[in-house]
Amino acid sequence: MDYIVFDLEWNQCPDGKEKERPDIPFEILEIGAIKLNSEKQEIDRFHEFIKPTVYSRLHYKTKEIIHISPEDLKQADRFPDVIRRFRQWCGEDCLFCTWGALDLLELQRNLRHYTIPNFFPFPLKYYDIQKIFSLTYEDGKLRRSLEFAVDMLEIKKDIPFHEALSDAYYTASVIRRIPDDKLLSFYSIDYFRIPQKASEEIFAVFQNYAKYVSRMFPSRKECMRDRTVVSTKCYLCGKPAAKKLPWFPTGGKNYSSLAYCAEHGYMKGKIRIKKTEDNKGYFCVKTLKLIDEGRAQEIRERYHKKLAKKEPQED
Ligand SMILES: [Zn+2]
Repeated sequence: MDYIVFDLEWNQCPDGKEKERPDIPFEILEIGAIKLNSEKQEIDRFHEFIKPTVYSRLHYKTKEIIHISPEDLKQADRFPDVIRRFRQWCGEDCLFCTWGALDLLELQRNLRHYTIPNFFPFPLKYYDIQKIFSLTYEDGKLRRSLEFAVDMLEIKKDIPFHEALSDAYYTASVIRRIPDDKLLSFYSIDYFRIPQKASEEIFAVFQNYAKYVSRMFPSRKECMRDRTVVSTKCYLCGKPAAKKLPWFPTGGKNYSSLAYCAEHGYMKGKIRIKKTEDNKGYFCVKTLKLIDEGRAQEIRERYHKKLAKKEPQED
């Protein structure tokens, strides 16, 4: 299994948000990638520019950040040709790694814009090295720049940042500093495409929590009426955990709950309801996590506070 570590540089509408093409807010101009074998040794590189067809001028921010000359773009091939070569270069059996979650999102939006079939496996597991760096070296919540990670890990800075190939190279260098068990267990699930039907729904168990991704529902209400969505089955033993608190809103589009498994103890539930990428409906991401008595008490308190606030309105 090879690691494909890739980085994209893109442009946005130079004439402001109003003139942007909503299906392709960011047009990819450059792909850089490093292929690592399972020992994390570099075995190949990919680098190509892409001739833009959506936004003909560079946004001022793009000009400030990236170093692409108009000549490079003029001589480049269009997205469909470059992406075909990139796909071939990746091979069949690979793990995709990027710094942050945006590159995979924008790549899939560009594919959709050109009506190129999405060639990523479904569900798409990927490795967000920015997140995994934080989980390995910091608190798991902070999101640092690639350069920050490179400095902290004392990786030699011998090439400039914000060029697709060099950012892929630095991301690969960070990957080498992350132990295999950490890297492989902290994968992310891409939500660009969501399950189409119940049988495709995603259930993933991680080191200390479990995640479920639902199919699409026409409304938020319908989401919360679905039995699988609201189920709090214990992810370790599979037995139904007794509901200690019902699902209750915790602000925004989130819900919390508390359940208790006779064998494994308290389990905190969290549901986030999201709009699908095509804006046609809603889906939810539920996480279940075993917690101790103290954390359970905090959730109870939050629930009762919510309830106290709500009551006068209902009377
Ligand atoms: Zn259990």
